[in-house]
Amino acid sequence: MKAEARVGRGERVVSFDEALEIVLQQASWARTPRVERIALEASVGRVLAVPITTDRDQPPFDRSTRDGFAVRAADVDAGTWLAVAGQVRAGTLWEGALRGDGAIEIMTGAPVPEGADAVVMVEHVERSGTVDKPAIRLAEGRRISAGENIVCRGAEARAGDEVLPAGTQMDAAAIALAAACGAGMLEVFARPTVSIVVTGDELVDLHDAPGPQQIRNSNSYGLGALVTQAGGTPQRLPIARDRREELEALILQALTADLMLLSGGVSVGEFDLVEEVLRGLGAEFFFTGVKLQPGKPAVFGRIPERDGMRGVYFFGLPGNPVSTQVTFACFVEPMLGAMRGAGGDGPRFVQATLADAVQGRPELTRVLPARLVSNRSRPEVKLVVSQGSGDMAALARSNCYAVLPQEVERFQAGDVITVLLR
Ligand code: AMP
Ligand code: MG
Repeated sequence: MKAEARVGRGERVVSFDEALEIVLQQASWARTPRVERIALEASVGRVLAVPITTDRDQPPFDRSTRDGFAVRAADVDAGTWLAVAGQVRAGTLWEGALRGDGAIEIMTGAPVPEGADAVVMVEHVERSGTVDKPAIRLAEGRRISAGENIVCRGAEARAGDEVLPAGTQMDAAAIALAAACGAGMLEVFARPTVSIVVTGDELVDLHDAPGPQQIRNSNSYGLGALVTQAGGTPQRLPIARDRREELEALILQALTADLMLLSGGVSVGEFDLVEEVLRGLGAEFFFTGVKLQPGKPAVFGRIPERDGMRGVYFFGLPGNPVSTQVTFACFVEPMLGAMRGAGGDGPRFVQATLADAVQGRPELTRVLPARLVSNRSRPEVKLVVSQGSGDMAALARSNCYAVLPQEVERFQAGDVITVLLR
């Protein structure tokens, strides 16, 4: 409807796939240039601007991976008893070398003594001898060969090697590795700032009492949370009334952020002024609508550089809260991912089995709130019962979105479909 209503005004309504492609293309140019130095323990979710190298070999010594006995494999194969010369625990070093026909008791994580080339698991030996003169041999039917149960010094990385490249998003595994490598401070990309402008004469702030004809502005809070989750810093601006001057003044304020989000006012109604005001500020639009349900009126564009101010990308998202959050997940999150340096991997799609049949829309890709349950070998996705794109309670009961591509008329229970994680 929107497309027809605005033909001739530079409208560009694209398919869901085209919209994603356009966002990822623009995202590849959109990284925030700011870098900051932060402590390792504050780095969860941040993205490395500078690689991390290890300051020592990993592991730093030949490390036993078992509790057992350090031996020369060839001696053990002979089947003879080996005198146990002593014990080396994690955190200690064996002075000297293993002598022929001997064994040294060793604990997981301890350095393997010089001269030993294998560790026999404690479960795989027979013991004899006295407390003063213990001895071991390989139990019946067991084998040991050189290298077994030992990770050699430097097998994982050599001192000076890059262990985490720039662009790595720091998670628990990366943080543990960085700590092992002595990296206490990291150079990471700054969180992009994201301004949030909500529009609508019907809105009142959370802290004000709504009149009977009014609704609370929930999108500022929902979008703020989405921005934080996606690694940005939200900047919530006051509510913009549906008047050109007011909207323009707030947009000009919002343009100081790295990315600008607008909620509402992008449909075809008389009071949907966002596109018009943005055009007045010289905006270029990459798309002005998406064949998507919910979320059809979404727009994406950029205000070019002017008066010494850098260009700023923006998304105009529909005001209905489910539409707002769906379009954020599909388009804004990948953009933010690229801006904070995490690479343009795009949305996190997985596949799951559809629990119940659902109708497709030949002209629209449907992206519907759903629950992914993975208590079987294959994850199953079930749509939540919803009153449509205003139903925030339904959205709150969901944990993902079911993506139903536009060509298919009907999806059957048991079909494998795409799921957008969030
Ligand atoms: P619009 O996209 O401006 O046509 O808004 C569509 C509908 O979304 C409105 O009628 C409101 O019910 C709802 N809405 C718009 N903005 C917000 C907001 N900030 N918070 C919650 N609901 C909103
Ligand atoms: Mg509105």
